[in-house]
Amino acid sequence: MNGRILALAGGVGGARLAHGLAHRLPAERLAVVVNTGDDFEHLGLAISPDIDTVVYTLAGLADRARGWGRAEETWHFMQTLRELGGDDWFNLGDRDLALHVLRGECLRRGQTLEAVTVLLAARMGVSVAVAPMSSHPVRTRIATAAGELAFQDYFVRLRCEPSVQAIRYEGAQAAQPSALLADCMADSALAAVIVCPSNPWLSIGPMLAMPCLDAWLKQAVRPPVVAVSPIIAGAAVKGPAARIMADLGLAVSVLGVADFYGNRVDGWVIDAADAALAPALRSRGQAVFITDALMRDEADRARLAAEVLDFAGSIAARRAFDPRP
Ligand code: GDP
Repeated sequence: MNGRILALAGGVGGARLAHGLAHRLPAERLAVVVNTGDDFEHLGLAISPDIDTVVYTLAGLADRARGWGRAEETWHFMQTLRELGGDDWFNLGDRDLALHVLRGECLRRGQTLEAVTVLLAARMGVSVAVAPMSSHPVRTRIATAAGELAFQDYFVRLRCEPSVQAIRYEGAQAAQPSALLADCMADSALAAVIVCPSNPWLSIGPMLAMPCLDAWLKQAVRPPVVAVSPIIAGAAVKGPAARIMADLGLAVSVLGVADFYGNRVDGWVIDAADAALAPALRSRGQAVFITDALMRDEADRARLAAEVLDFAGSIAARRAFDPRP
């Protein structure tokens, strides 16, 4: 396969696969578009958790154990904040802090979120193109029995404890795609779209809620779209994806995620533990590749990325013989 690859990513799972893809592709052939539904203002700082996880991971600066934030972090700021009676439910490491301060400063001066992301990623030595899905604010809101919550209230402050009744993506209808996303959608040489193993409702949902991307993914003629299941053997590798699926009354398996993505996806990469679900996916007309879908280390990231690229290539090759209507 030649041509650019567009990866749609949330936080940790998406960042890991994006890192693998960056190992496998020349920098100019990869574009990573990142969820901003988790973004929020906190203590006057502009925080974009998924962008930061992706950029830190691609820059080799991420903390490996936590998956988010920077390696070799210290926490003096949080300790002092606590001593002064500040809101301490959202952890911000000392090294991490500068990024949020600088981003807020650039945004206040009128720069777009995309411009700030491009600038800061370059300064961290990231050569792959990374951009938010949109520079316009999109905010994920979670309806629970206790009322509607802002995303970080649900996710961090309340540790995903309230049962989820519904999710909406405020601002998504009006959000224009970032220049990188618009450029990929207009690129006639775009080779494939990879939907990374990110939380479908919290990380990919906000992107699908943007009408431009949704309509583009639902077109009859477009590059192959391959998704990596974030659910393995009925559980999420991390985070609340499985809980949310159960709360929403959905099947907690790749089939529930496949129902959500629908015909926006042409092929599924699933774990060997879920091989029994392959016929159900194939009966929906979707191709399936079965592998070890867990990324434990960098070797796994690179291996899974190579498999995903080959799989997308095989779908593209099959289409060349049997084009879609
Ligand atoms: P968050 O923003 O930190 O919640 O991170 P993501 O949007 O990346 O969502 C986490 C999702 O990625 C969860 O549903 C995990 O099950 C999934 N995930 C994380 N690591 C892996 C992995 O190594 N393999 C697979 N298949 N899924 C993963």
